[in-house]
Amino acid sequence: MKKLVYSLWLLASIISCTEKKPTGWIDQDRLSKRAAADWLTLGGNEQMQHYSPLNHINASNAQDLGFAWEYDATTIIGNVPRGLEATPIVVDGIMYTSGAWGVVYALDAKTGKEIWIYKPEVDAAYARRACCDAVNRGIAVWEGNVYVGTLDGYLVCLDGTTGTIRWRKDTFTDRTKGYTITSPPHVAGSIVMIGNSGAEYGVRGYVTAYDLKTGEQKWRFWIVPGEPKNGYESEEMEMAAKTWDPNSDWQTGGGGTSWGESAYDAELNLLYIGTGNSTPYPIWYRSPSGGDNLFLSSIIAINPDNGKMVWYYQTTPAEIWDYTATQNIVLADMDIAGKTRKVLMMAPKNGFFYVLDRATGELLSAEKYTKVNWASHVDLKTGRPVLTEQGQWYKDKPKLVVPYLGGGHVWQPMSYNPNTGLVYIPERAVPQVFKAFDTYTYRDDVDNTAIDYSNMYKFMKNVPEQIKSAEDTLRSESLLAWNPVTQQAAWKVSEGAPDGGTMSTPELVFQGTRTGYFNVHDAKTGKKLKSIFTGTGIMAAATTYSIDGEQYVAVMAAYGGAETAAYLPDAAFFEYENKQRIIAFKLGGGETPVSPRRKPIPTPAPPNIKIKKELIAKGAAIYEAYCETCHGRFGDQHLSQHPDLSKLTETKHLVFNDIVLKGILAQNGMANFSNSLHEDDVEAIHQFLLNKQTELYQK
Ligand code: CA
Repeated sequence: MKKLVYSLWLLASIISCTEKKPTGWIDQDRLSKRAAADWLTLGGNEQMQHYSPLNHINASNAQDLGFAWEYDATTIIGNVPRGLEATPIVVDGIMYTSGAWGVVYALDAKTGKEIWIYKPEVDAAYARRACCDAVNRGIAVWEGNVYVGTLDGYLVCLDGTTGTIRWRKDTFTDRTKGYTITSPPHVAGSIVMIGNSGAEYGVRGYVTAYDLKTGEQKWRFWIVPGEPKNGYESEEMEMAAKTWDPNSDWQTGGGGTSWGESAYDAELNLLYIGTGNSTPYPIWYRSPSGGDNLFLSSIIAINPDNGKMVWYYQTTPAEIWDYTATQNIVLADMDIAGKTRKVLMMAPKNGFFYVLDRATGELLSAEKYTKVNWASHVDLKTGRPVLTEQGQWYKDKPKLVVPYLGGGHVWQPMSYNPNTGLVYIPERAVPQVFKAFDTYTYRDDVDNTAIDYSNMYKFMKNVPEQIKSAEDTLRSESLLAWNPVTQQAAWKVSEGAPDGGTMSTPELVFQGTRTGYFNVHDAKTGKKLKSIFTGTGIMAAATTYSIDGEQYVAVMAAYGGAETAAYLPDAAFFEYENKQRIIAFKLGGGETPVSPRRKPIPTPAPPNIKIKKELIAKGAAIYEAYCETCHGRFGDQHLSQHPDLSKLTETKHLVFNDIVLKGILAQNGMANFSNSLHEDDVEAIHQFLLNKQTELYQK
């Protein structure tokens, strides 16, 4: 009897110890223990390193990597294929990730079989407010719940088992302004924090924290001050306001939106966020007497219990080049000058690689990881960049500046490998002539940057005296292995369009490319060990996990985002259909299916309408300012995923005005432009397009 009781007790305790937690159970304990089999945050671990210690796939067998499965993640809102940018989270054999608009997928990570899908009801017209496509940069999974921000501004908490909504909160303070959400939420202590996007459109950035379980709003941290006469929401804003002209253009909002990957150090109880660029970009329109304009382009440590700032570091005071500091934040403990330091690393757009003490915010080092001409160096005593002639205001004449507005590194995650001690950055050096418009007036809900950036190369001819050699005008890019301790490059691979986010394991670096390849490099040398052609442009960073002892590597594939505005003719989507896919690989896997080839669309016969030649030039200018960002150029040069407007059908010509001014195709993502364009503007665009179609048809 005694024996039986003991056995029952033993059995009961085994059952309770191994009691199955609900699906998607990630908590602080599990995260701190870093179970290697799983990928628990967007960055894989608590430090957001985009690194996994899994080493079944390694330098000696990487050439055997092949196709395991794929999932068709075709966008179900609107009719345009959108970019995929998130890194999937994998826990207990289930993969959770997000696609465009804030759609969430739960898949069997071994087979790719769909478990559930959450489709938010987003008005497709919000796509127009998204400077850089209706993308979503990922989710958070915590204690059985999945958190996602939708493009139209809601933070949604989903049940991890069923995908049903537990709570849904409107995170926007003003729906008349150009806010969107493309950023991932981040869990810190008992809250989930979410930022927003829209700085180009003239908004005032902030992040908001909600109770993980109930969704109750806990705090809101404003990033830039509002009009002083209305008072300040916090001490931080009162302090920040001293760095703005009291007569600033408060109506435009200032920008500073936080839309990148954040990080949380549970031991220090600090939540780290990166903040974005200004609007309008020219400070002489924004804060006429200058000033640092805190907290633009900054890294901020926040106590998640009360939303108070603990420290801040501004990377680009008085920001005028779209130099966001929203690039992914990576934490690590490393030996610097004989001491182990708890550091935070970022390679923001401005071209400097920063290493900060993450407990105090002390700047430990900052060096150029790419070509930089706006500043000579960062003064470690003051923490401030020292500006060059090219870094002066481009007020009276345009300035040739590198990095361009897309930065030396943008949202595609960099990874840190503690085994090699290197950071792997998708780096690029692109020069741009910054040219401001002669006047600026705020307009609701449209681009308010006040700079002429419709074609970044167009103004080169205006600044011959600033071009010292042909190299000053060239674009380059690389997969850059950076030593954060010595602040030097270890190696760099420039061939093969190495522009996707990176993921590393002890011996390897994984990276997709816009040209449709998924590459595996030796982490120590950069040598390419394997290259798999998918036919789909890959921007997102991969994830890796192990199920039943077998290691998988998975990545979201589909081109889009701001990248498509760069018109790079080697992009896969120019030749292959821009399929939205999640592709998984494993050792001994098969051939990877390639996206089908695009069928060329012939130019339809233009309608028999007499073209008003006198309107063509005006139409071309308006097209360039309002339409080209999405629709791109025409015919052979049409490298956009949005329709080529030189191929309009007869029906579309008939309703052209209604499309632009009444939003009759809003459900496809083509917004109503009636608050920015007048009927005569639309007629001019139409005449320009008719003329283009006639020219191309006759060819
Ligand atoms: Ca921006």
